[in-house]
Amino acid sequence: MTQVINRQTFDEVMVPNYSPLSVIPVRGQGSRVWDREGNEYIDFAGGIAVNVLGHCHPALTQTLHEQADKLWHLSNVWTNEPAIELAQSLCARTFADRVYFANSGAEANEAAFKLARKHAYTHFGPGKNEIISCNNSFHGRTLFTVSVGGQPKYCEGFEPVPKGIKHIPFNDIQALKEAISNKTCAVVLEPIQGEGGIISATPKFLKAARLLCDHYKALLIFDEVQTGVGRTGKLFAYQHSDITPDIMASAKALGGGFPIAAMLCTDTVANSFNVGSHGSTYGGNPLACAVASKVLELIDTPEVLAGVNLKHSHFIQQLEKINQISPVFSEFRGKGLLIGCKLKPEYQGQARKLIQIAEQNGLLLLVAGLNVVRLAPSLIIPQQDIEEGLQRFSATMRIFKQSLDGS
Ligand SMILES: *Cc1c(COP(=O)(O)O)cnc(C)c1O
Repeated sequence: MTQVINRQTFDEVMVPNYSPLSVIPVRGQGSRVWDREGNEYIDFAGGIAVNVLGHCHPALTQTLHEQADKLWHLSNVWTNEPAIELAQSLCARTFADRVYFANSGAEANEAAFKLARKHAYTHFGPGKNEIISCNNSFHGRTLFTVSVGGQPKYCEGFEPVPKGIKHIPFNDIQALKEAISNKTCAVVLEPIQGEGGIISATPKFLKAARLLCDHYKALLIFDEVQTGVGRTGKLFAYQHSDITPDIMASAKALGGGFPIAAMLCTDTVANSFNVGSHGSTYGGNPLACAVASKVLELIDTPEVLAGVNLKHSHFIQQLEKINQISPVFSEFRGKGLLIGCKLKPEYQGQARKLIQIAEQNGLLLLVAGLNVVRLAPSLIIPQQDIEEGLQRFSATMRIFKQSLDGS
């Protein structure tokens, strides 16, 4: 029996926690995707900062196929070569000495927060358990990570939530000074708030966070789930500064579209976990690890990373140009190929409408909250796709402006 499935079917069979756009893409290649009718779309969304090498990159496809013919899964009762190799590769490229593998950003953060608590418990006793995080931050959707996250609406209805979490305004050094104490076990930050609207941490705030954490013997956790793996023009965003965290979460781009996440940390911190402290059936899965090693190898090159910075400048320059023709944005912000376009006050709350119009015009875009349109394309998006995508963006902005100004 063959059944017709379409976007309507989604609403019939899925738990209604998402509201996907109307198109159902069926195929992708590089920075273009196609739907069933053969309509083509330029992809400036990158699967929410995941598809760093575009769709179906031949080297990733080959790596996945080769590993699929060898070994899919063992569990953590046995280790496997791809996992050890990936851990080595991550440690060689970052501050970290040790790695824990998981399957999603939320899980990497969950492990980070648990490790921070365990570390404080082991060295200082049970009183040191407070986690400080920032308003509007996003760390995932498990109960612990929504509780640490700074968007109260994600906790609503799920109470009681874990205790011992404080929130401060992002980039507010004074507020951090007032909140932190000997009871603090960790401060967690996104170097650029992604879901919160593409807002960069100031270098001063990062520096202050590091110094205050050192002073109060708290751990500094960077959530680089969105900013990591080349997105900002360095392999990890913290590498733009001279500040290193004690723990870092990576996910999204790490597998280039294959689900995998990693929690990275220093030796001292890692030793607060022991056998049985934490775990995951799929964490360190050979398929995921083989693909992620290839992603790192292809992204962590001077050419690709320099290309991200060049593409950033080009995008901003062109966006400013098309914004003069159809002025709908008040600001362009972000780093590398994580770009936020903030809607002017008169278009408040209309970001989703803009990306719907973009879809009708053959362009995939993202929102970051209600007022920001987000671009997170492949880091190797070809110049021609950028130009064509920007033309479609320009058309989208014109239609968006006309339809809102006219109403
Ligand atoms: C997407 C994201 C997460 C959650 O990742 P999942 O894979 O959806 O669990 C956590 N932190 C940040 C900064 C993110 O952007």
